[in-house]
Amino acid sequence: MREITQAEEAYPGGFVRYRIDPEVSRLSRGKFVKVECDGCGNEQIVFSRPSGDLECVVCGDVLADSSGGMAEFQSRIVAEVA
Ligand SMILES: [Zn+2]
Repeated sequence: MREITQAEEAYPGGFVRYRIDPEVSRLSRGKFVKVECDGCGNEQIVFSRPSGDLECVVCGDVLADSSGGMAEFQSRIVAEVA
């Protein structure tokens, strides 16, 4: 079960205009975000354009795969860090 994005809420007929959550597309410029590990619940601040895969410092779960510069997050983004 995934969360409903802002874009989907704006188009309640079911037509999804944007595939990418606006929240995520803003991250493409590169910034620090706080993510929550699915495995252990640890919250960790990471860069959204990492040079390699990001792993949880506590349990070693993959938080994000780096794909062409932009991280593909496997974990939940809980906050942006200014
Ligand atoms: Zn973890």
